[in-house]
Amino acid sequence: MEWDTLPLVATEEQPARPAIERRAVVRGMFYETQARTIIEKVPVAAGIPQRWAVSPYRGCAHACRGCAARGGHRRLGLDAGRDFETRIVVRANAVRRLRAELERWQPEPLAVGVGGDCYQQAEQTYQLMPGIVRALAGAGVPATVYTKSPLVLRDAGLLAELGVQVAISIAFVDEKIRRAVEPGAPSAQARLELVSALAEAGVDVHVLMGPVLPLLSDAADQLEATVRRIAAAGAAGVQPVVLRLPPGTRQWYLQWLARQHPALVERYEELYDRAGLPSAAYEARITGQIRQLAAAFGMPPVAPPRVRPAGRQQLALV
Ligand code: SF4
Repeated sequence: MEWDTLPLVATEEQPARPAIERRAVVRGMFYETQARTIIEKVPVAAGIPQRWAVSPYRGCAHACRGCAARGGHRRLGLDAGRDFETRIVVRANAVRRLRAELERWQPEPLAVGVGGDCYQQAEQTYQLMPGIVRALAGAGVPATVYTKSPLVLRDAGLLAELGVQVAISIAFVDEKIRRAVEPGAPSAQARLELVSALAEAGVDVHVLMGPVLPLLSDAADQLEATVRRIAAAGAAGVQPVVLRLPPGTRQWYLQWLARQHPALVERYEELYDRAGLPSAAYEARITGQIRQLAAAFGMPPVAPPRVRPAGRQQLALV
């Protein structure tokens, strides 16, 4: 749909232009906005341990079908499908806003990059991450950066120096599945090499092994192959996450499933509740298997991020 041709107020013939366009400067696929708040609550559907997050970008060109952040685009008047992948909201004032909010922040751990990959293509243009990393470390806030993108290597020295943890998402190593469900993301092999490069650079790096896809990437041999290669890449640990299907994600993922694997749709309907969470028994079985495999391959449970004690003083000079 060409939003540029739509009116701001809906008429009988045409829907209204998305709300985000009224307060954004549109530059190609990027919608530049000024965020009023940058530290946000992490939705339960994200499946990560942190309760709060900073997302300089909303939407993500990596286009993962099971991305739990898709529903966030609906609140902007955009859709959770193609718009999420092609209309990326850039919070151009993210660093300034974060510095202001951190002045009143109790140092509870923060996740970075939950509403969209923080090192996706947009970061090449806007370069917000170095400022965000410095602000977090300067405030003494333990932080974990979530990404699939090799662009994170650009900041490896800074992340290592300031003790900011990185989690690279790798749910499976089967390239056929990756092409089908993560069409815009780097290959699993490229991400494994990224883990090695970050570890070599001294970054505290582990793997977010998710989302594990029920009946598609959860067989015992698939899990074992994935954990083995993650361990060989030098990850400090594995954090398992089973696919969540909150509103927005659910429709987009199930449409694809109905096209490609129609026999599985009913099984998914049985497995997921109305909020989009998988059955507790299934989730416990899969995460338990992954944790056992991780231990067998010599990876301890993922340790929480730590801030280098010198971070605050060093950054005062930056
Ligand atoms: S890389 Fe992360 S944020 Fe981007 S689409 Fe995939 S799951 Fe979502």
